[in-house]
Formats: sequence, C-alpha cells, structure tokens
Amino acid sequence: MSRKLYLDNAATTRVKREVKDEMDKYFDEFYGNPSSQLYELGRKSKEAVEKARKTVADFINADEKEIYFTAGGSESDNWALKGTAFANLNKGKNHIITTKIEHHAILHTCEYLEKFGIETTYLNVDKYGMVDLEELKQAIRPETMIISVMFANNEIGTIQPIEQIGEIAREHGITFHVDAVQALGSVKIDVKKQHIDLLSMSAHKIGGPKGVGGMFIRKGVKIDNLIHGGGQERGRRAGTEGVQNIVGFGKAVEIAKRDFDYHVKRLTFLRNKLIGGIKNNIPDVVLNGHPTKRLPNNVNFSFKYIEGESILLLLDMEGIAASSGSACTSGSLDPSHVLLATGLDHGTAHGSIRFTLSEEVTEEDIDFTVETMKKIVIRLRAMSPIKNDNDLKK
Ligand SMILES: *Cc1c(COP(=O)(O)O)cnc(C)c1O
Repeated sequence: MSRKLYLDNAATTRVKREVKDEMDKYFDEFYGNPSSQLYELGRKSKEAVEKARKTVADFINADEKEIYFTAGGSESDNWALKGTAFANLNKGKNHIITTKIEHHAILHTCEYLEKFGIETTYLNVDKYGMVDLEELKQAIRPETMIISVMFANNEIGTIQPIEQIGEIAREHGITFHVDAVQALGSVKIDVKKQHIDLLSMSAHKIGGPKGVGGMFIRKGVKIDNLIHGGGQERGRRAGTEGVQNIVGFGKAVEIAKRDFDYHVKRLTFLRNKLIGGIKNNIPDVVLNGHPTKRLPNNVNFSFKYIEGESILLLLDMEGIAASSGSACTSGSLDPSHVLLATGLDHGTAHGSIRFTLSEEVTEEDIDFTVETMKKIVIRLRAMSPIKNDNDLKK
C-alpha cells in the first residue's frame, strides 16, 4: 500500500526532468542579470529569456513581441482586468463581462474593481458548464470594455466556444481576454484564429516551475501596466526576470508542443476509461462538466449521499491524491461556485471529486482508482444518514 498516485494535476504538476535540467544551468552557470548587456553572463541570460519568449509565442501563434512574462496565471489575470480597467478609466468604459465559473483570480479582481465604479456581468452556464452566446450578446453594453472567458474550466474541464466568443467581441470592438491556464498544452490555442486580445498562461500546470507565467497582449490593445519599476519586458512589466523560471516555462512549452498529439490522445483514453469505470461500477453518480468538450485529463463526479472531504481522506489513506468540489482554500465548506453554477444542489455538489491525470498515469492506476472508489463509496454510504433516510422512503 505504499503506492502513491497523484491525480491532482489541475492543482499543479511535477516539474518535468528535462525542464529541471535546463533550469539548473541558470542557477549555477548563467546567473547573470539579463539587463547587464555589457558582459557575456548577462547576454546569455537575455538570450535564454528571448528564446523562451519565441517558443511560447510560436505555440499560440503570436508574435514574440506580444509575449510578456509574469509571476503566473493569477498575475496575468489581474493584469488583464486591472490593466484594461485603468486604461479606460474616465473614458465612459466601465463594464466587464465574465462568467460565473471563472477562477478566483478573475472573480475576486472583478469584485475589487467595483470600488472604482466598475460593474461586472457574470454570465450563466448550462448544466455542462457552457456559456450561452445569445446571453453574451445580450449582456454587451456601449460601456463594455472587456469580455473575459476562460478557455477551459479548472474544476469540470469544460471547453468554451472561444472562437465564436472572440468573433462577437471583435465585432463590437471589445477587448477579449482568455484565461488559458488549464487549456495550454491540452487544447489548440491560436490567438489569431480565435480573435484573442489577451491570454493568461501559467508554467506550473504544464510541467514547469511554480511562480512564472505569461501574458499575450495583442499589438495595439489598450492596457496599462500592473507592475511599475524598471524597464524590463520592454517597459511593460518591471522586475528582474526570473530567468531560470522563464527558461523552465519555455522548456515545458517546447515539450507540450512536441508531445501534443500523443498527450491528448493518451489522456483522453485514460480519462474515458476512468469515467466509464466509475459510471459502470458505482450507482448514483453524476458526471460534472461536458461529456466530450472537456479537457483530456479531467474527470469530475458527484457521489450522491456522501461528502467529498470524507472521500478525499480515505483516498489519501490509499495513497491517492485528488481534489474535492469545494476548493476550500479559505477553509470554508462552501461548495464550489462552479458546480453550483451548473445547477447542482448543495448536497450533490458537496459529494464531488475531481481527478486530473498526467502522462505519468497508467491504465493500472485507473483500474486501481476505480476499485478504490468503489470500496470507499460503499463504506461511506453505509454510514450516511442521508442515504439511509432515502432508502427508508423508498
Ligand atoms: C491555476 C489557475 C490559475 C492561477 O495560476 P497560478 O499560476 O497558480 O497563479 C488561473 N486560472 C486557472 C484556470 C487556473 O487553473
């Protein structure tokens, strides 16, 4: 039972070996400041940063001059919204459109911006977590400055019709921001074809290091700086570049590009095997998220009559790391805002578990997970007061 199975890859991933090896050189050998251009050591750092920038740009079909490195997905999301809001301050543009299922880096930023007189419309989603394009069109006002919709949801994996949303935003001359943190490496991103103006990325969700990410800013888009200081990142994002992290991000993207087709195909197979295994072996379950338009590595189920937290504890005892629907970062037991937005009742939402796979996962791991879940659910339901009540009513 010393088995360790990490199925929480939407939370973060292990840094890939090749990534770590590449990064190491920039701790030990090439430790110069990229702003120090008068000697070799500084130039080497600068070259490495620019190489990573090109790799990231190519991967999303952007120009390298449109890529800026940040400290991660949260900073990029903050930059997109605050930067756009401040660039439009006192210009009569004070309205944001987003969705009810965004990451907190978006939702809490919108809440904060209320202080500055900025209003936000939160679009509903259907039972699969999809936004409705008609509702989006209805929500547009003359004051709308930005539409921010995530490419793929981190909890339920649903992939949005980004290209169509981009078309609508473009027709109305509204900046279109996409949080692509979960989509990067799993869904084809083409900022030109998909009419994207701003795009948030993060390294640690794709086998890169924590604390580094990227932001695509289309040439000509109006956006203020978020971090002020030195002239790094062509004057748009101050602070000495995290060279080793940027190098790691670039390497992770290089691998994501190289392995894309295989990665998607294999994870989709494993995902479907896990979904089928749970559906066919455990009664009273609900698959959350879209059945097909979902991330290749995402499985999210609600297990009726029991608590996600209890399931997690028992999974941990079997060496399996997963996540529950109540992303209780605050220690609160409120069910996930995403699951509630899809129309799940509180009780069912409370019994939700997310499994997110990586290339390290094998078919045997999937079988083991299904068997383990079967045992855990039977055990917890036998103790469940709700389940027993329900049985008595039958
Ligand atoms: C993880 C995540 C973020 C935050 O990224 P960090 O690099 O951890 O700050 C933002 N959006 C989504 C969808 C995420 O999954």
